[in-house]
Amino acid sequence: MRTLMKFLVTTAIDYINASPHLGHALEKIGADVCARYRRLCGDEVFFLTGTDEHSLNVQRQAEKEGITPREYCERMIPSFTDAWAKLGISYDGFVRTTDSQHEAGVKQLFQRIAAAGYLYEGDYEGLYCPSCENYYTEKDAPNLQCPLHRRTLERVREKNLFFKLTAFQERLQKLIETREFRIEPVIRRNEILGLLREGLQDVSFTRANVNWGVPCPVKPNQTIWIWFDALANYITGVGYGADEAKFRHWWPADVHIIGKDITRFHCVIWPAMLLAGGVPIPKMVFAHGFISAEGEKMSKTRGTVIEPQQVLEKYSADVLRYYLLREVPFNGDGDFSWARLEHRYNADLANDLGNLVNRTLAMIGRYRNGRVPNSGDNDPLDSDLRTSAEKAVAAYRERMDELDFNTALTELWQFIARANRYVEQCAPWALAKSPDKAARLDAVLCNLAESVRLISVLVTPFMPTLAEQIRAQLGVGNKLGVLADEIRWGRLAPGTEIGRVAPLFPKRA
Ligand SMILES: [Zn+2]
Repeated sequence: MRTLMKFLVTTAIDYINASPHLGHALEKIGADVCARYRRLCGDEVFFLTGTDEHSLNVQRQAEKEGITPREYCERMIPSFTDAWAKLGISYDGFVRTTDSQHEAGVKQLFQRIAAAGYLYEGDYEGLYCPSCENYYTEKDAPNLQCPLHRRTLERVREKNLFFKLTAFQERLQKLIETREFRIEPVIRRNEILGLLREGLQDVSFTRANVNWGVPCPVKPNQTIWIWFDALANYITGVGYGADEAKFRHWWPADVHIIGKDITRFHCVIWPAMLLAGGVPIPKMVFAHGFISAEGEKMSKTRGTVIEPQQVLEKYSADVLRYYLLREVPFNGDGDFSWARLEHRYNADLANDLGNLVNRTLAMIGRYRNGRVPNSGDNDPLDSDLRTSAEKAVAAYRERMDELDFNTALTELWQFIARANRYVEQCAPWALAKSPDKAARLDAVLCNLAESVRLISVLVTPFMPTLAEQIRAQLGVGNKLGVLADEIRWGRLAPGTEIGRVAPLFPKRA
């Protein structure tokens, strides 16, 4: 039996200067499913997310509009918090990098690293992209354009504080190779190991002439590099620099969930910062892939961005959550398409799941007066259904532990298909015609009700509202026990009175 534990899961914090699209939603939903699953397992969970508010782009946009950067952030923040509320993102902490507590923690970590002797003054001359907030060399950026943003890089020449990243090369390599610091999926781990073998370069940790940022505590008139500031949210969000007891309780993070484009920051710079500052490193970084829209990269300029709100006008949050995690392998890339969404709605949700729940409950209403009967009889079909449930549960748990959400759902849907086949094989409507088959009909309806109950438990992390609706219709309370108890076959009490039955996925106009 697994022991219960504390579990800290984080997402990347988003740049506040553009409202979230489906790619942001995918990451937050994945982290939310992870958090809800761990809570269901009985773990003590802290789910941390937030927004990255110090950036050159914010400063410039605010200047353009004649407002302060802080006013600009206040105007933008609801587009994140509203989207996450609508999508049911159950975070426990939300860091805004402009929070004073966060800024204090950033300064403290910076000072620790300085005191440990890992910072030195140096001349920085090179290229900078304000959209990635990252430095480039002319080798990385031929024609002086950002390879990601296709915008002209800014030439920067300033006296900055540099971090001795090179001092950590061997330690990082060893931590990653021994899996003491896990990077998943393997393709990302190999990329980082390749980077380490090529050799690291020290990195500038401060900027001159940037006002909108955390003031550098050891060098006047400079601000702390935005990536330092942003990465530190993972510790300031659980009390670093403010509440030592809280920090010791939650840290280190069990998993940082991030996009595959920012692994270098999270798998090289971040652990090196922590090692330099005397803070334990996180246990794992999990890099998810990207989502395209109708086969095209989502791009503002080309008008191919899809925002969650556009989907929520037509489908519930649960449907979008299901679609994204079923259709897109969480460790790889995927596509959003309206046609695929409609297909998944009709096939997986309305036909497979909705139909199973609906006909099971309708038959209990019709043949047994709305009460779940006793299961006395036993047939090979019954044991087969039960074995199939047990197999699905085991596979589901194993896949969920690995954040392999689409396979976990595939396993669950195989069980749903098995239960629908059981209905056809047992043909309760035929049994209902012969009074001498009453015991058999009892058993079949009881097994089906038990299957519906079990499915409602397993879909909970993905579709929390839907899971509540299923349990309300089945007549079981919404208070779930821990997963280890909830998955026991036969937990549904005979005599349970079912609730009001209604289609879960109505036909769409
Ligand atoms: Zn860029």
